[in-house]
This record gives sequence, structure tokens and C-alpha cells, in this order.
Amino acid sequence: DTLRGDASLDNSPRQVPGYHYSRTAPTPVADPHLLAWSEEMAAFLGLAKPAERGPGAAVLAGNLVTETMKPFAARYGGHQFGNWAGQLGDGRAMSLGELTATDGTPWELQLKGAGPTPYSRRADGRAVLRSSVREFLCSEAMYHLGVPTTRALSLAATGDQVVRDMFYDGNARPEPGAVVARVAPTFVRFGSFQLLAALGEIDNLQALADYVITRYFPELGAPSPEVYVRWFAEISRRTAVMVAHWQSVGFVHGVLNTDNMSILGLTIDYGPYGWLEPYDPDWTPNTTDFGGRRYAFGQQPRIGLWNLMALAQALGPLLFDPQALRPLLDEYAATFNATYRQLMARKLGLATFAAPDHALLEALPAALQTAEADMTLFFRGLSEAVPALLQEDDDALDTLLAAACYTEPGSAAHVPLRAWLVQYAGRLRQETAAPEAIQEGMLAVNPKYVLRNYLAQQAIEAVEAGDLAPLHRLQQVLKTPFTEQPGHDDLAAKRPEWARTKPGSATLSCSS
Ligand code: AMP
Ligand code: MG
Ligand code: MG
Repeated sequence: DTLRGDASLDNSPRQVPGYHYSRTAPTPVADPHLLAWSEEMAAFLGLAKPAERGPGAAVLAGNLVTETMKPFAARYGGHQFGNWAGQLGDGRAMSLGELTATDGTPWELQLKGAGPTPYSRRADGRAVLRSSVREFLCSEAMYHLGVPTTRALSLAATGDQVVRDMFYDGNARPEPGAVVARVAPTFVRFGSFQLLAALGEIDNLQALADYVITRYFPELGAPSPEVYVRWFAEISRRTAVMVAHWQSVGFVHGVLNTDNMSILGLTIDYGPYGWLEPYDPDWTPNTTDFGGRRYAFGQQPRIGLWNLMALAQALGPLLFDPQALRPLLDEYAATFNATYRQLMARKLGLATFAAPDHALLEALPAALQTAEADMTLFFRGLSEAVPALLQEDDDALDTLLAAACYTEPGSAAHVPLRAWLVQYAGRLRQETAAPEAIQEGMLAVNPKYVLRNYLAQQAIEAVEAGDLAPLHRLQQVLKTPFTEQPGHDDLAAKRPEWARTKPGSATLSCSS
């Protein structure tokens, strides 16, 4: 009730000054049917799986709005690739309302791709099947890896075709459409505040800040200028923790614009994201992130800070001293570094992380990059090699290198990483825990299975050909990424050579 909504139900594209959101109605599709369902998310929300076709699937594709639902699209803007872009959304997402989860907390249920809203600009409000499969699979996989993220409840096909003007070869062509039902306590973004500040809607800015603090950060106390400062510190902390998790698993978001930064510190908007296979700080999956590689893997910590600076600027009008948030930005780096080190120490099986260990950790990225070591295979292989490393079994080093690296076994590219491993093995021998305990701890944090780019693409191609089995198998395996799953070793293998350059398996455009 404290937020201002435009109730006109007018979907024509336009600026919507003065409001926080617009009431909308999803646009029905030809043949809504369920393709995939997240049992864990559903159980948490207390929902039962609907039939492939029927009222449940109709709700999840936007064909049925029940009496208790009040669909709305939120109003937000943002910086895209460093430039202020004005009003951006929700151009193709609309929330049906809130559900109370089994733990009593409120969760927003949002349909992505359910048709145009006032914020759709010149686009169609739809999503293609390939990008919807990717969002559905990856957001749930991230949750099961322990990374802060928005969730997905369902993936529904629409039976309609969607035309995208930029496909892998630059030609427009029709593709099947889909709708993902995604779930989070709220989808409010940095850009939600930025748009209000940019347009001088300071009363609306304060109303939104007060709403978000009261509902989602109640532990901070009643909103006041002092509480806004503490709130910003908490947003910075959560953002730093989120980015540290990305860096520890090799996730590259791909479009880290301020409209894609959740105010809750959750990974949001799974577009042209990707997973590091050969370790490379300069790698980005996003083909539209030209030249500058602004959103490459190694840039993410820095861009997190850049985005927080943009948010700090937007919140300035709410403070006694508009500069009050500046010192807090330093804490972002401190939190990021502390969290990253803690996560990496666990991945390396080190119970404590002392001064000399910093040098060991800092030497690793360059060695991994030279050897073109697969991020996931390397750390998993390291965990498996613990007993051998402790026994100074040097053959185990070469076995690990051969299994994890894309460069030739025995080549000069392996030399720095091999030297690093010798140093690391020496450090590991100083640990006091039993070898089995060290190994168990490492296997619990170094995933065997991640959503490799080419695996997602294979699942997409199968779904497009009418075969849901690969999608469901990937979804199932990624629920327990740290557990050996016999019969699924092909999902934990090195990326095949053909997948290195194939569009969709290696790189993606923003068009989705
Ligand atoms: P993204 O780069 O994915 O964050 O997209 C930026 C904004 O563009 C989003 O907030 C959406 O509102 C909007 N958008 C993206 N795709 C579409 C589409 N097909 N129809 C309408 N709006 C879209
Ligand atoms: Mg977005
Ligand atoms: Mg997107």
C-alpha cells in the first residue's frame, strides 16, 4: 500500500513517471504446457506439481490469472555497459503476487516472458525457449551450489514462436517461446532506486527505500537517515559475498548492469552467463560485451563496486550527508577479500589461512591460466588427489594436470601449475587434520558437476527437438553437485574440442 501503482492496465510502451509499478495482464499464449518443475522450490512454497496441461500450466505461462493474483510490472532503470539507459523494466517480467512459504516468509512469483508491459520499449515482452531453459537450469544449479540467487519454479512452453533479430549468425528467425516462473523475496534492483533519483522523484525514492527496509531488512530498525547508511552497508556486504561466490565457482554473469543487481544481493537475470572451463580472467560469454571485456570473469569484483557506487549516488538524496556512503565502499573490498579467501581456503582444504597462504593463493590464477586448467576439474581433481599429495606421490601431480588441463600433458604450459602443486602439497602437509577429513571437506565444496555451457546447449537442442530427457537429467544431477553420481560422468568431463568455438556452446549474445 505504501508504493504507488499505475492501475490503468495500459500496456502501450511509455514512460511511467510517478509510479513504482504498473498493473499488467499477461498476454495469453497458444499452447501453455509444463516442461520442467523444481520440486525443491515447490515444496518450500507448499505447491503441488501441476499436470503438463491444465490450469496450473496455464497460470505458469500467463494464460490464467486467478482472483487473488494482482499482476504487476515494476518500474526501474539502470546503467547498461557503463552508460545511463533510463527506464528499462520490467519489459518482459511481471509478478503475479506473493506466496507465503512454508517458513512463513513472503516470496514473489514472477513470470518472465509473459508478454508486453508499459516498459517493453520496442520489444515483444517474450522470451525464447533457449534462454528460458538456461535461466531455469542455472538459477536452481546455483542454489544447490550454495550461491545466493533468485530461484526458478517452472519452465513452460508457450506453443508460440518468437522472432529474434539477432541469432548466432545475425539473421532473424522464429524460435519457440517459453516462460520461466521465477521466485525471490523481491526483485527490486539497484536500478529501481536509480531511476527515481535520476528523475528527481525523491518522495518515491524514500517510499521504496522504506518499503524495502521494513519488509526485507527489518533487523535494521525503522527507516531513518542513519538506517539508510546501515542498509547500504548491508547491501554492499551481501553484494561482496555474492561476487566472492561467483569467483570461487567460476560463474560469469555476463551482463552486470545496475538493473541486474538485486537489492538483496542475489544473482539475478540469467542471460548470456557462462561457466569458466579453461581458467581465464579475461573470458566473457557475452559476445555483445565488445572489446573492453567489461563483464569478464576477472572484472566482476570491480564491477560489483562500480554498481554499488551508482547505488550510493542514487541514495544520496535520502541522507543528511550525501557523501556518508563513501567510506562504506571500502568495506566492500574488505568483505569481498575476506569471503573469497575463506571460500578458497576451504576449496584448498586449509583450516587456517595465514600470511604465507596469501602468496600461495595469489600465485594460482596465473598458473591455472597458463595451463588452461578447467576450473571445476582442477579443484575436484585436487580434492581427489589429497592422499597422494600428502604422500609426496609425484605421479599424482601429472595425472591431475593431464585430467584437468586443456594444454598438452608434459608441455611447458604445465610447468608453473606443477610447481604450484608441489608448493601446495608442502603446505597441505602442515595441516593437522586427518587426510580423510581434509579430503571430505574439499569434496563438499568443490563441485563435480556444474552447468557447462555446452551441456546447457545440448539440453536446449534436445528440448527443441521434443526430447525432455537431457534437460531433466541435467536438472537432477545439478541438485547434488558435490556428490558422485554413477552413470553421469559424461556431465563432469572436459569440454570437448568442438564446443570450444560453437556459438551457443561457447559464447552467447544478449538476444534472448
Ligand atoms: P537485460 O539486459 O536482459 O537485463 O535486459 C534489459 C531490459 O530490457 C530488461 O529489464 C527488460 O525489461 C528489457 N527486455 C529484454 N528483453 C525484452 C523483450 N523481449 N521484451 C521486452 N523487454 C525486454
Ligand atoms: Mg535484466
Ligand atoms: Mg536479461
